[in-house]
Amino acid sequence: MTTSRSKAEWQALDSAHHLHPFTDYADLTAKGSRIITRAEGVYLYDVDGQRILDGMSGLWCVNVGYGRRELAEVAGRQMLELPYYNNFFQTAHPPAIELARQLVELAPAHVTRVFFTGSGSESVDTAIRMIWRYWQLRDQPQRNIIIGRKNGYHGSTIGGASLGGMGAMHKQLAYPVGGIVHIEQPFWFGEGGDLSPEEFGLARARQLADKIEELGPERVAAFFAEPIQGAGGVIIPPASYWPEIQKICDRYGILLVADEVICGFGRTGQWFGSEYYGIKPDLMTIAKGLTSGYVPMGGVLVGERVGDLLGSEGGEFYHGFTYSGHPVAAAVALENLRLLREEQIIQRVREEAGPYLQQRWGTLAEHPLVGEARGLGFFGAIELVADKASRQRFDEDLNVGMRCREHCFNNGLVMRAVGDTMIIAPPLVMTHAEIDELVEKAWKCLDLTAKSLRN
Ligand code: PMP
Repeated sequence: MTTSRSKAEWQALDSAHHLHPFTDYADLTAKGSRIITRAEGVYLYDVDGQRILDGMSGLWCVNVGYGRRELAEVAGRQMLELPYYNNFFQTAHPPAIELARQLVELAPAHVTRVFFTGSGSESVDTAIRMIWRYWQLRDQPQRNIIIGRKNGYHGSTIGGASLGGMGAMHKQLAYPVGGIVHIEQPFWFGEGGDLSPEEFGLARARQLADKIEELGPERVAAFFAEPIQGAGGVIIPPASYWPEIQKICDRYGILLVADEVICGFGRTGQWFGSEYYGIKPDLMTIAKGLTSGYVPMGGVLVGERVGDLLGSEGGEFYHGFTYSGHPVAAAVALENLRLLREEQIIQRVREEAGPYLQQRWGTLAEHPLVGEARGLGFFGAIELVADKASRQRFDEDLNVGMRCREHCFNNGLVMRAVGDTMIIAPPLVMTHAEIDELVEKAWKCLDLTAKSLRN
């Protein structure tokens, strides 16, 4: 972008005209936003020229890192060849068809079809509509209740916000989508009490069966969940959780939907979080890492159970977006998949860089502020606590997580705060030296946070 203004000008214009997503506007006006101007590899650069290590891959999406020329060049070529055409009304184009083929090849064997969208939220809404449509086609339209989880995140459309379990978002919905109910999350550190993680995982999974019985099994259409909760605070379920959930879904014949928007495309060291946990979802929502965030795109991977009915004898599905399967986005996604495959980026997360990150990240547990350091693949979380042994939290008014986040940003590191849980999800290409830098900076920012609490 060629327009050049001073930092103060950018901030003034931003606060006057730009309504940001998930931002407290009074705060923004008081403090001014951080203006990021460019990025390379795993580093962001702000308008002052400060270099910032991006521990969050943007918003969990820049899996192959910033500045990949291959992705830019493919987008430019596709824009000149066919910048846009739709896939409505029996038309299609090669990028969308080829991407559907490659995704089916990459996905678990029972996935046979793909529906494209423009984002994660659109993918979630699409999956909700597919669930309803599937049971209508099965002549069981009364099976329309979808079970989600408290503190799950499924996007910001009305469907996604209703299905997610974020209390603050629900409060702002005048009319959440009906027929959605929530069970509790498998968050052992926060809610496990005296149970062992394995006992707690089973107990939380069994809430699904209890809820199905309470509602009446003939009314329940699907269970919808993230393999690992991302926005909720990198909540990694105990190993007992997912096998039990799969059993319950099978027993009652309800559809299982895995929201792979964050877990998909390598973050766990497998292509999909569902593979990591060995589950077999009927639908998988994807976005983010599909294009490494270089252009917006999402989709729903559809297993044969739903796909055979919907995709052959289902009649018209009255659903779609102008940008479903956008040719430029599809071309970028194809190139991104090629990079992930040919550079063995996911294999590296699984076998080498992921274990290294986890070993280094785990050392943060020794810090006096940290009650737990957990992680998996290229995910990490630390819990900031007032007392390690009892897992006791700080007083909410102290805003310890936000303090820590500010120290991180001011010291050249992006770490996200979810309450008093600090989380990371770095680009999958991060080197060992950069991982060392991340952990060293995190430690330093924990020290600064501890110091600010003593003042
Ligand atoms: N599902 C999950 C699991 C997500 O993490 C997100 C975004 N963080 C979404 C859905 C929504 O995606 P988008 O912001 O692209 O609409």
